[in-house]
Amino acid sequence: MHTHSKYSKDGSSEVREMFDRAESKGLDGLAITDHYDVRAWKEAEEISEEKGMFFIPGEEVKILDEDGKCNGEVLLYFMKRGIGSMTIEKINKEVRKQGGLIFVAHPFSRTRHTPKNVKGLLRYVDGIEGFNARSRFASTNKKASGFASKHGIPTVAGSDGHIPLEVGCGYTEVEGASDLEDFKKKIEQGKGISRGKKVNSFIYYASQLRGRV
Ligand SMILES: [Zn+2]
Repeated sequence: MHTHSKYSKDGSSEVREMFDRAESKGLDGLAITDHYDVRAWKEAEEISEEKGMFFIPGEEVKILDEDGKCNGEVLLYFMKRGIGSMTIEKINKEVRKQGGLIFVAHPFSRTRHTPKNVKGLLRYVDGIEGFNARSRFASTNKKASGFASKHGIPTVAGSDGHIPLEVGCGYTEVEGASDLEDFKKKIEQGKGISRGKKVNSFIYYASQLRGRV
């Protein structure tokens, strides 16, 4: 539920490579959540159809304060058009209009953009990312999943993969989802189970290198 293609400022994966990897890892589909960019969607739709896999059109955007400062990032799913970074009130309004979902990305990460007050965002979002395979510290994922169960909010998991090798390192499982619509409904109901393991250091640094090229 969290991947980046070559269209992201820091990604380098071809969309097809990502689907190939997801398929070989036994995933049913993929959400592509490039940073304020939706150019991968069209290709992803075609490839997923050809492979008989799911594709969730997503985007990762910054939450901007009134003064334009970044206050964390959110993952948007089931979108019809990209919206870019804006205030959380505006994100909420836009995403609801499109029938999409909003999840706080890596809410307690110490190395990425994180919100000052995750609790304060809960009225605007559908849930949080409970597991991010690129989190450098296991404790931040533990904190996220603990926070979610304490507040009874849905979670998703993702690899946050920037190279194909990372795809599938984190994934969201929903038992008995009959189709993508049902998958979405069950995610909203908090029935998504976070799975995966942390990306090992070698892959992490390889992806950083590749992402810079
Ligand atoms: Zn990301």
